[in-house]
Amino acid sequence: MSAHRNYINGAWVESAAAPILDRNPSDIDDVVGSYAAADAAQTRRAIEAARAAFPAWSRSSIQERADLLDAVGSRILARAQEIGRLLAREEGKTLKEAVGETMRAGHVFKFHAGQALRITGELVDSPRKGVSVTVQREPLGVIGIITPWNFPIAIPAWKIAPALAYANCVVFKPASLVPGCAHVVAELLADCGCPPGVFNLLVGSGREVGDAIVNAPEVDAISFTGSVETGRALATRAVAGMKKIQLEMGGKNPLIVLDDADLDNAVECAVQGAFYSTGQRCTATSRVIVTPGIYGRFRHALLARTTALVVGDALDEKTQIGPAVDAAQLKTDLDYIAVGQKEGARLVVGGERQPAPKNGFYIQPTVFEDVHNQMRIAREEIFGPVVSLLRAQDYEEALATANDTPFGLSGGICTTSLKHADHFRRNAQVGLAMINAPTAGVDYHVPFGGVKGSSYGSREQGAYAVEFYTRVKTVYTNANIAG
Ligand code: NAP
Repeated sequence: MSAHRNYINGAWVESAAAPILDRNPSDIDDVVGSYAAADAAQTRRAIEAARAAFPAWSRSSIQERADLLDAVGSRILARAQEIGRLLAREEGKTLKEAVGETMRAGHVFKFHAGQALRITGELVDSPRKGVSVTVQREPLGVIGIITPWNFPIAIPAWKIAPALAYANCVVFKPASLVPGCAHVVAELLADCGCPPGVFNLLVGSGREVGDAIVNAPEVDAISFTGSVETGRALATRAVAGMKKIQLEMGGKNPLIVLDDADLDNAVECAVQGAFYSTGQRCTATSRVIVTPGIYGRFRHALLARTTALVVGDALDEKTQIGPAVDAAQLKTDLDYIAVGQKEGARLVVGGERQPAPKNGFYIQPTVFEDVHNQMRIAREEIFGPVVSLLRAQDYEEALATANDTPFGLSGGICTTSLKHADHFRRNAQVGLAMINAPTAGVDYHVPFGGVKGSSYGSREQGAYAVEFYTRVKTVYTNANIAG
């Protein structure tokens, strides 16, 4: 199998290093593809190419950029089934979820095609007579984009599209577990006429390629999504190099279920939020905090729904929950299940590997109860299909428990009380507040991000992306001149 190559300065480039084998977590005997692993020297070449391309690209017309992004978006949408299949094969989310993610990526490109045409500034009067002030937006330069494995096309799309829309050049390093979708995005940008050097793809390890991007003085900004550990370490080095940074990291997202909740909807929110995409979403529900008047009915219905979930091959249409992404993530999930039991939490559903005909990383959706908020399973991100039930006496205690976490990405409440919904909207310490909706599942045209340990820097997505991918220049014009 010949390796797919990296895209550097408008050319597809081979590598001498051993390629990265992209394996299907539903069936590890299925090799999705082989991808050339870039090294530090190739990373430097890509960064230099991006730097060299920047002056011309920063002066490109808004129409040129809009047309490029619109064309890429159209092609993604036209090939959504095929790309979705690739995504399901390399990441393990179900085909339906994978096609949905691909469509979203297409819409993200099209949204930012429109945004390229809407770059505005401000004209302000000066207190000084005859002087006017213009506030205008400018691109940053070269953006290093580093992404995780759990959204192999949507996250790259929501970083690459605005970076290019606002006339920046890009050096992109996807997660090593999912190079396939990243390669498709690079192919589409190349096919749609992206000028050489403006966009570069570097598949390769975080330690080699990622470090080289973060340490390069020619890179002006880093947009990173991934774990807290990697994000924190990377931020220290990036700030030392005076780079602008944006970090999207983990979550420990709570869902409050109050006595007056619509029971069916609350159960659906919990099941979707906790287990879909195998719980491998930064917005996944991991703590469900329930008040006494509904606890018994909610628990009963949640366990029934959880037990009935179909775990299996991501490409099988009957599958509702695909496998963990790899052996390491499966081990993490099982280790946390053991930790929960040791801490005294009661395992009520799941907790084991799911037997399956294929050799994949299948795990049963798992529910713990009698969990208190100081246990490790209630504080640390697991990133698997494991949810904890916590009890709270009333709304006030439930909110205090929800907010008692180092994270602050998403949080939800199920209630028919306008008073409590409104109070939650104002007081939940999160970037995404969900009312009678799952903690996971967001739209592409509005801002995304968290507070506390979940996020750092300005918001991603929607019109708010302009804050990160541009800087502001203030121009004073003095008309009081002779002549
Ligand atoms: P990760 O291990 O932190 O990796 C993220 C990216 O960083 C990968 O491309 C990785 O490359 C790279 N990397 C690793 N070491 C690096 C280094 N020293 N320098 C530069 N880059 C380096 O995270 P993950 O396991 O892929 O993703 C799961 C995490 O992402 C979870 O914590 C989840 O909550 C978070 N996430 C957050 C959001 C959000 O928007 N808040 C969305 C999705 C996921 P390799 O793949 O080569 O190691």
